[in-house]
Amino acid sequence: MLSCREVTEQASDYLESTLPWQQRLGIRLHLFLCRHCRRYLRQLRAVTIAFRQMPRPEIPEEVMDKQIDRLRAYFLQPEDGIKKMD
Ligand SMILES: [Zn+2]
Repeated sequence: MLSCREVTEQASDYLESTLPWQQRLGIRLHLFLCRHCRRYLRQLRAVTIAFRQMPRPEIPEEVMDKQIDRLRAYFLQPEDGIKKMD
């Protein structure tokens, strides 16, 4: 039988229905017997659905590029110690 770790590693694919039937069957069997993983899957499904229903803000490309540049500068120069992002 699959371990809890294996089930949680495959949980997203299971919810997306992208796993082969043998793996799906293994997960279903595990879920039947393990309430912890059942709860985990239920929460993951709820979060996934909530995330999909969130409105996606339209971010202009130049704003996005500027933010990416700032993040890149911030993370690629750690030798200056801790920097503040403004
Ligand atoms: Zn489990």
